[in-house]
Order: sequence, then C-alpha cells, then structure tokens
Amino acid sequence: MQDLTIGFIGGGNMARSLIGGLIADGVAAENIMVADPDEGHCRALTAEFGIATRHDNAAVASTADVVVLAVKPQLLHEVATGLAELAGPGNRLFLSVAAGVRAADIERWLGEGTPLVRAMPNTPALVQSGATGLFGNANTTEQQREAAEAILRAVGLTLWVDEEAKLDAITAISGSGPAYFFAFMEALEGAGEKLGLEREQARLLAVQTAFGAAKMALESPDEPGTLRERVTSPGGTTERALEVLEAGGMRDLVNDATAAARERAGELA
Ligand code: NAD
Repeated sequence: MQDLTIGFIGGGNMARSLIGGLIADGVAAENIMVADPDEGHCRALTAEFGIATRHDNAAVASTADVVVLAVKPQLLHEVATGLAELAGPGNRLFLSVAAGVRAADIERWLGEGTPLVRAMPNTPALVQSGATGLFGNANTTEQQREAAEAILRAVGLTLWVDEEAKLDAITAISGSGPAYFFAFMEALEGAGEKLGLEREQARLLAVQTAFGAAKMALESPDEPGTLRERVTSPGGTTERALEVLEAGGMRDLVNDATAAARERAGELA
C-alpha cells in the first residue's frame, strides 16, 4: 500500500477526504496525484498535502497503480471513456466512489476485463468516520482488493459485499443513514425547545448524546439492544419514552424508509 501510486480523477470533497486519510496513514505525498480541471481545487490540494496536480486525467492515470474515479456520477461516462486506453484486462485497478453507477457500466466504458472496485462511502468519510461498502468485479486480484480496501479504510470502516445489488442495501443503511440521524437530532432539538430549553442548548444536548451513544455502541462488546436495555430502568423515564416510540411504529417506519431508499438506489443506477 505504501509503495502504490494512487491517481485521483476529480479532486473535490471525497478525494480530499481520502487523500487526508492516506497522508495521515503514512502514504507519501509523492505517491499521490490528482487530475482536476479546477485550478482552485488543484492549488488547495497542493498547498494542503504537498501533492502534485494536473489538468490532464490521462497523464495522472497513466502513472498510477490505482485510479480513483472521484467525479460526480453524471460525469463518469465521459471520464471513464477518456481513460479506456489505460484500462483493460490485467491492467491497473480502477476504484469508483461514484454513487449509483453500476460496476458493469463502468467496466464497459473503460473496457471489458478491467479490474474494478466500486465503493459506496458516506459523508462522514469527510471527518474520517465513514462507513464504506465495497464490491470488486471478477477481474480484480487479491492484491488489488487489498489496495482498494486500504484506501477506503483511511476514512473509516470498510466491508465487502459479494453481490453488487447489496450496495443498494448499503446505500439505504449507511449511504443515506447520516441524514436519518441528522433528522433524529433535529427532532430531538425541537422537542427540547418545546420542553423549555434554549434551542442552542437542546441542539448541543441532542448532538452530544448521538455522539456518546454511537461511541458507546462502537466501543462496547454489547449490542445496541443490550445497551438500550441497560439504560431503561423498569418504570423509569426512558421506558416511558421508548414505549411511545414503539407504539408510534418506529421500527416499521425504519423498515419502510430503508426499503424505499433501496428501491430508489436501484432505480437511479
Ligand atoms: P465534488 O464536486 O466535490 O468533486 C468533484 C470534482 O471533480 C471537482 O473538484 C471537479 O472540479 C472535478 N471534475 C469535474 N469534471 C472533471 C473531469 N472531467 N475530470 C476530472 N475532474 C473533474 O464531488 P464529491 O462530493 O467529491 O463527489 C465525488 C464522487 O464521490 C461522486 O461521484 C459522489 O457520488 C461520490 N460520493 C461522495 C460522497 C461525499 O460525501 N461527498 C459520499 C459518497 C459518494
């Protein structure tokens, strides 16, 4: 991993997070290069990380062992087609982080037989706390999969799926998931205000509590269900509140919401 050269096509938010994670992981700046038509983005990346940037996608891809496709999904067709000469069977690995673009389509644009990993990261990757699903096509070697995983692990947790369709489920759970938790924090903030707290106070309490609960759930050997039971004393305040949430159909709502997101992910691809 430390010896691999990594070329980013697109130097926006997601590329910047990944590069930050890689540099923090000890990857040398000279092993990372970025192609982006935006002069401002290029200058900012060089200033922040000391990496080289170009405006020429092929120039960057041609020197890379792993080419990270980090442009907006609607640009991927044009960008991948433009790199077809540098792709193909037994050639360098392409790693797409574009939401909703199928591996088979990207492989067709790059050339049949191209080693390709498709990643579904989420926005907390921007603060190195992401959750990423990975799917590798049949052309990837073990070493290439390890390289893809190491790149995404630099911004958080990674897990592999054996069928690409499962990336749609991952989109519904962790891809869109940050927004569910933001919505819950907003609701808790509003509820705190209704109960007489200052809005700012209620917001701080809601956000810190979400963070604390997530940290406990990650660090504890116990499942979230066990942690919930432990903070729910019989006859107490938490029990009363949870009864209201359950009676309101919280679990069914979460099932319906994620099923709708998965269906939409399938439609968009
Ligand atoms: P962004 O707009 O911040 O970055 C895209 C970059 O691509 C820009 O710097 C732009 O100048 C550059 N660009 C435009 N045309 C180009 C071209 N022809 N060749 C090379 N570069 C070009 O977008 P982002 O948020 O970084 O998203 C990039 C990809 O990551 C998207 O496909 C998105 O689906 C995926 N993604 C992002 C997030 C996230 O949290 N931001 C989460 C999941 C997936």
